[in-house]
Amino acid sequence: MATRAIAPGYPQFFSRADGCRVWDADGNEYIDFMCAWGPNVLGYRHPNVEAAVMKQLREVDSGNGPTETLIELAETLTDTLDHADWCLFQKNGTDATTACVTIARAGTGRRKVIMAKGAYHGAVPWCSPSVVGVTAEDRAHLMTFEWGDVASLDTAVAEAGDDLAAIILTAFRHDVGRDQEMATTDFLKAARAHCDRTGAMLICDDVRAGFRLDVRGSWAAQAVKPDLAAYSKAIANGWPLAAIAGSDRAREGAEKIFSTGSFWYGAAAMAAGLATIRILRDTDALAHTVVMGERLRSGLDQVAARHGFRLRQTGPVQMPMVLVDGDQDLRIGNALCLAALRHGVYLHPKHNMFLCAAHGPAEIDRAIEGVDAAFTEIVAAGVEHA
Ligand code: PMP
Repeated sequence: MATRAIAPGYPQFFSRADGCRVWDADGNEYIDFMCAWGPNVLGYRHPNVEAAVMKQLREVDSGNGPTETLIELAETLTDTLDHADWCLFQKNGTDATTACVTIARAGTGRRKVIMAKGAYHGAVPWCSPSVVGVTAEDRAHLMTFEWGDVASLDTAVAEAGDDLAAIILTAFRHDVGRDQEMATTDFLKAARAHCDRTGAMLICDDVRAGFRLDVRGSWAAQAVKPDLAAYSKAIANGWPLAAIAGSDRAREGAEKIFSTGSFWYGAAAMAAGLATIRILRDTDALAHTVVMGERLRSGLDQVAARHGFRLRQTGPVQMPMVLVDGDQDLRIGNALCLAALRHGVYLHPKHNMFLCAAHGPAEIDRAIEGVDAAFTEIVAAGVEHA
């Protein structure tokens, strides 16, 4: 049996994780650059986070209603995130993006939602990348535009007319299998201006980048504030939690909608979230991932060049996308990543990867050595340069 999202040749099951390392079911150890596809931001089994969870579990996890931990977490998030005046908690990123859309429609009384072509916002009919089991009616009011292209956004907004409920954007363009693109301030400001002019809601889907780029929210440095932002992945260092953080502009819609889930009051994950956000806010953990990301990027460039390859490394260094230049069918990238596994390094050939605070210089250098050995191996096996 294989878990379908994991490529053939990759370990399919895991037995242990610690810091920046994972062990597969056969006991092989890897330096991990997927970080559970994003949730691991501080290091697997971070002691402060685990202690907060264990303390909460001794008291109550899921009860008949929320605990004080929810209030403390909501206050911490609204204090930490630039745009936020209130929060609502769920379990998965898809819960949060979907509720953002529902809140925008409830608050505006309108239907149209504009998203970028190829962007990922979750695995439910309104936005899933697969249309299997999805009806046209599920997407009747979903419109698309070219990410980052202001003219294309203008056209979609004009088409939506007075029925525009929301524009939803990922923090930056992190689509699978292509170079990543940061959001320019002009693009974000254009989206903000459309929402201000039309009364629509600007939604930042910060599920993947949130609490990795900037603890204040991924657009904070550009001073563009969303009305609603969706978080999950890194918010609780691997414990199941998602959140919507909204501004007062979006509060009315949030107060109107029906929203609930069996485990949404679960306090253990909220305790994990509280501990995680405090560490991210009060330490240099994220700055450290940037330094390590730069070390990895330059090391990989040097190793690739030594073997006669050129890499296209894009996106934030702490969320690296590494593609081999000219490798249209990913033949080289796939062979390289499989060889890297044999040298104890867990990479992804076409999805952005993730660094965590537990990656230190020794692990980064060890990973670069592993990739060096992997290049030697694939060249010896006859993988040709593109
Ligand atoms: N939005 C983005 C940008 C994501 O990366 C993801 C998860 N990869 C989601 C939404 C959906 O999150 P989840 O898988 O937790 O439902």
